[in-house]
Amino acid sequence: MPSAPPRYKQKRVGGKPPDKRLTARARGYGSKWEAYRLSIIRKHIGTSGPYCACGCETVLLMGQPRHKHNAEVDHIIPHKGPSDPLFWDKANLQVLAKQCHSRKTAEQDGAFGRAKQTPRAKTGPDGWPVEAE
Ligand SMILES: [Zn+2]
Repeated sequence: MPSAPPRYKQKRVGGKPPDKRLTARARGYGSKWEAYRLSIIRKHIGTSGPYCACGCETVLLMGQPRHKHNAEVDHIIPHKGPSDPLFWDKANLQVLAKQCHSRKTAEQDGAFGRAKQTPRAKTGPDGWPVEAE
């Protein structure tokens, strides 16, 4: 039986790109947030049903097993950290399925190598860009 030549893992040149985001804890997502987000998710499921708030009809899972959980709390308006009132404002929170939250976060943060979204130049009624003053 022929044996395959040994394989070596290709080393990534330059290693992992540096992650400029702070750790979740440093961004304010500590144990206080953990307890808070669970209460938000329970309330959402209790009042609106176990569905993602974006309208995609994904069923949110909160029971066991833990690894199947897919409910995440999203800040509708981005906050500046736990000292920002928006961080704890229930009116600014919605419960999204993991994939919907990831998509929203990626669109806002320009993650996955995409550039941050820049607003398009305004166009006038003739379709030409309007000069910014
Ligand atoms: Zn959704």
